[in-house]
Amino acid sequence: MNTSFRRACFSAALLVGLAQAVPAVAQTSYFFPGAQASSFDPKVPTPEQFLGYPIGSHYTRTDQIVAYLRELDRVSDRVSLRVLGTTFEERPQVVATITTPENQQNLAQLQQDRRALHDPKLPAPNYGKLPVVVSLNFGVHGNESSSSEAALLLAYYLTASTSPETQQWLQQSVVTVDPLENPDGRDRASHWFDQNKSWPNPTDPLDREHTEAWPGGRTNHFYTDLNRDWLSLTQPESRARMAFFHEWYPNVMIDFHEMGTNGTYYFEPSKPHSTENDLIPRATYEVLNVHMAKYFAKALDNLGSLYWTKEQFDNLSPIYGSTYPDFEGGVGITFEVGSSRGLAQEGTNGVVTFPFTIRNHVATGLATVRGAVEEKELYLRHQRDFFTSALSEAKKFTTKAYVFGNAQDATLTNKFLTVLLQHKIEVHELGKNVTLDKQSFEQGKAYVVPTAQPQYRIVNSLFEELTTFHDSVFYDVTGWSQAHAYGLAVSKQKNANLVQGAAVQAPKKLTGEVRGGQSSYAYLLPWSDYNAPRALTALQRAGLVAKVSFKPFRAGPADHPVDFGYGTLVIPVAAQKQPADSVFQVVSRISRQNQVAFTSVTTGFSVGGIDLGSNNVRTVPEAQAALLVGNGTNASEVGEAWFVASQQLGLPLSRIEVSNFGRAPLARYTSIVLVGGTYTSLDKAALEKLRRWVQDGGTLITLKNASEWVIKQGIVKEKLLVPANAGWADTTAAAKGKATGSRRADFVQQEQEGTRAIAGSIYLADIDITNPIGFGLTSRRLYVFRNGTTFLRPSRNPYATVAQYTAKPLVSGYVSQANLRQISNSAAVVVSKAGAGRVVLFADDPNFRHYWHGTSRLFANALLLGPLLNLPEGPAAISAEEEAH
Ligand SMILES: [Zn+2]
Repeated sequence: MNTSFRRACFSAALLVGLAQAVPAVAQTSYFFPGAQASSFDPKVPTPEQFLGYPIGSHYTRTDQIVAYLRELDRVSDRVSLRVLGTTFEERPQVVATITTPENQQNLAQLQQDRRALHDPKLPAPNYGKLPVVVSLNFGVHGNESSSSEAALLLAYYLTASTSPETQQWLQQSVVTVDPLENPDGRDRASHWFDQNKSWPNPTDPLDREHTEAWPGGRTNHFYTDLNRDWLSLTQPESRARMAFFHEWYPNVMIDFHEMGTNGTYYFEPSKPHSTENDLIPRATYEVLNVHMAKYFAKALDNLGSLYWTKEQFDNLSPIYGSTYPDFEGGVGITFEVGSSRGLAQEGTNGVVTFPFTIRNHVATGLATVRGAVEEKELYLRHQRDFFTSALSEAKKFTTKAYVFGNAQDATLTNKFLTVLLQHKIEVHELGKNVTLDKQSFEQGKAYVVPTAQPQYRIVNSLFEELTTFHDSVFYDVTGWSQAHAYGLAVSKQKNANLVQGAAVQAPKKLTGEVRGGQSSYAYLLPWSDYNAPRALTALQRAGLVAKVSFKPFRAGPADHPVDFGYGTLVIPVAAQKQPADSVFQVVSRISRQNQVAFTSVTTGFSVGGIDLGSNNVRTVPEAQAALLVGNGTNASEVGEAWFVASQQLGLPLSRIEVSNFGRAPLARYTSIVLVGGTYTSLDKAALEKLRRWVQDGGTLITLKNASEWVIKQGIVKEKLLVPANAGWADTTAAAKGKATGSRRADFVQQEQEGTRAIAGSIYLADIDITNPIGFGLTSRRLYVFRNGTTFLRPSRNPYATVAQYTAKPLVSGYVSQANLRQISNSAAVVVSKAGAGRVVLFADDPNFRHYWHGTSRLFANALLLGPLLNLPEGPAAISAEEEAH
């Protein structure tokens, strides 16, 4: 369709918006060009009749979207609306199920009948009698807003259409419509677009309407990309969605997106092999995807809309809404439409209007239902075959079971167990205490995951390393093993029956306690439990003085003393301003609220190691942390650091706009966090202020390129490793001669890009667990996630390199040989002394996507214990003379 026509359509829509009687028909013919106006049930209001404006002339708020679907539920027995959950900003997360009134009466039975599709133990079903389930999911990226508007129109069509074809669709299928995958992000974006709209519509891409302010509406409340959260399930929206997913195991699931304004329309198949996962049966890509593509192509051909396939995007990992279904016997598909971001925007294909983007999504959405129903049995049989073949594939696989757990960290072990159960993975108790791969696993505190189960492919994805790839260009991460992210001990077993106990039905209900009851002397809490740092902030907020032990000791009842490791918290009763009874009450409450076990002791005299009055047991100052946010800072990393403070530590965090840094009274903060970003807007005075605050005793925590920035600004005396192969050109001596006069005949050089970037992979580092930054960890093996190119040189102070990549660090994911050489033996975490203060430099993002718990512990330690970090100066520490050079 040419541009002028598109524009004309849009103006017409606006004009008719003024006259209420006309628009229903105008809108119907624009969005459903093949349909007769008479073939819609007049009792069902169109979105326009309900909202009072034509779809595409305004960004619809989430409450209006929910209200319209409630109205459909009210007026039609084809629709049932359910609330799945609530977001951080108290918006409901809803899903509409649309099918015939008969099916609506029978949803639970249909789910029960469909169990034979995903449970190979059950006899094969009568495929003709089962509905195909189509899930249409909209707006996981909140500012890709055409999708949720399309959801309203698609829901209307399926509810109101009286055509024989629609009636047949509804008999043969159950369609679920998730109109708002990301309600909080959606409203952040729609408020922006609505408050900045103007007439006539400014089409200039630089107009304020088209340039959302930081952080934009793509992500949820904590700036999480929910379309990367399908495996890790860190956010409530994802968990609610996953529970609903497993009610139906959809056969076809669509995730509706937008891409840049210059894009046309994208649907799958994606790039063959290189973007596909070898765990998935080829039929998913070569039969199911290809079958559907014919319907999408036809629908867009009918509109005259341009599109492309097979070139990009990712089918590799199950972290997306469009890939997770591939791992569950369905087919997941991404739709991307070139975006208007606002009501109308200029692009290389002319002016893209909001109604036009919505119209494309409506067309492909209806084509999805058509394609799924017409080849219903293909999709149903595929699902049963998929889960049956999971068992035979598992049989061929060498690992028969994974054993995981950390007896010293019940909370984190249980957290991982919970995620496995949310994926409907079969997990067993550990049958007896065992030592495997030099790691000890305790019954009741460790679990066994057999690979021979229908969820084999998800199990494999959660536990296995992947180091061979078809290509070197990636859309996102190439290492997603959750087992490594949690940092729990894991052992791969070749014999499943060796250690397997009873099947686990539900996560453990952890309870806290004070072992030994009330004490008049002190309470102790090991730092190794994931919730111990959270308990510390709670103790401090309740007004108690807490100390932390820098050395291990053995204490407790004489008949069975207990070993307490680095970082153990000590709450001395007499040092408190509160009477002993009240101290006990607070400690008891905090133990229950955080499910941690304190031990009460009656003496400060330890059986072994240091005593409680030692100089090595130091009072922890209450943390007052600040995080620089806003323009120039990486919103994801800001969100992650904020999430750690808020959700993991219960720590109030001041989020200070970089532009306000100049007037921030820094003396009130014990620690300041700079996530990756460009801090060019900090002027000389601001820099000097920051430097002085560190010198005066502050703890500065820097991630990724912020670590580079503090080194380049001379705030610390550390060094960067300069990438051996910086930029695009190969500048190695060997390549230099060859480069002159050479030419390339592969003009489209994007294939090269991947070899330089580090898309996201997993590496092994050695961590000093006697350094406060490493307190609480029980193993020196630290799995680090890396998706950047900040290379830190190990410090010259031998105590300062807290974590260092090993000589052969790659564990899982893709990396070029040149980058791997650079990473090997480089520093992952450095603590650098600066006057009375220090800078904790992370080469990577320790809080990656909220699930990298193994390293987020280090970040939490830096926030809470950083002020106590007084680095010893070893023999090789930099001397004053050397510094002068
Ligand atoms: Zn998107």
